[in-house]
Amino acid sequence: MSRYWSDVVHRLTPYVPGEQPRIEGLVKLNTNECPYGPSEAVLAAMAAQTGEALRLYPDPQSSALREAIAAHHGLKPAQVFVGNGSDEVLAHAFLALLKHEAPLLHPDISYSFYPVYAKLYGIQTRELPLAEDFGIRVDDYLAIAREGGAGGIIFPNPNAPTGMVLPRAEIRRLLEGVPDAPVVIDEAYVDFGGESAAALIDHYPQLLVTRTLSKSRALAGLRVGYALGDPALIEALIRVKDSFNSYPLDRVAVAGAVASMQDEAWFAATCARIVATRERLGAALADRGFQVLPSAANFVFARHPGHAGAALAAALREHKVLVRQFPRPTRIADFLRISVGTEAQTDVLLAALDRVL
Ligand code: PMP
Repeated sequence: MSRYWSDVVHRLTPYVPGEQPRIEGLVKLNTNECPYGPSEAVLAAMAAQTGEALRLYPDPQSSALREAIAAHHGLKPAQVFVGNGSDEVLAHAFLALLKHEAPLLHPDISYSFYPVYAKLYGIQTRELPLAEDFGIRVDDYLAIAREGGAGGIIFPNPNAPTGMVLPRAEIRRLLEGVPDAPVVIDEAYVDFGGESAAALIDHYPQLLVTRTLSKSRALAGLRVGYALGDPALIEALIRVKDSFNSYPLDRVAVAGAVASMQDEAWFAATCARIVATRERLGAALADRGFQVLPSAANFVFARHPGHAGAALAAALREHKVLVRQFPRPTRIADFLRISVGTEAQTDVLLAALDRVL
């Protein structure tokens, strides 16, 4: 605390990201990174960015990357915004799109960054409880929006940390009923089996879809994310970006990200591999007595009726396996969020569980 701090800093409760330990030999299943390295094409494209390329500032519009992303989704570059990870894209979206008169609606169990950004930008939030089965109840959002109580809506799909999908038909129903407030669908995990709302962008000017190259493209360390939406929404994000950091993406990141968006074969094979391991992991956990939520992401969310979540996470750590446990809300405190690793990492996790349970 310091008397020189602004009121904003006094109000903040910063987000605490998952641990990035420097301990060798840990099986790291706590932050949903891809367990496989990025494609060779990505590494080659980044290695080529030397000398002259680094002397010059990057393209402030990241045009090459916006074009590659647009081509991948069958959209126009004017419908694409890029930033330093989807966290930064989300931060810009909060500043650019959300109104201050009505609260931002989000599920009580979702990405804990949303309330942090909201507080930073002075935006009120309203948490809506998930259903008993951990699904998102669209009717709750529609009812509040109908009364003018929604300054915006945001949730991940698949949701995090549950991994559960809201079907596209439900998203369409939400968009039909909420024409006047921005609806942000955070698709960080969509490539592992979710139902993307990207195809709805041409029909709903209030829809913003955010994506990341951190998970399904194995580039969490490069920090590249993007948003898809109506050109007017994208224009608002660009205005914020230009006022904040007009060169968000460096040349190495753009070169790597372009190569990644163009390497469909690596992408398809890697997602399929992770999905296959996720199914094996889910079944193996169920065999050991866990309740496992149906996951369409690169992690599973599971609890064991005989073990408290915090104690189980600590016991796994003793066996050099790192998983994530969230103390709040208390309804999920006994769940572990376990990232899908390699087959060999999954073997280590299961062997550790067999000793601990
Ligand atoms: N959204 C969700 C739901 C996430 O879990 C994450 C990763 N922590 C992000 C967004 C941000 O990912 P990144 O900034 O690496 O793109």
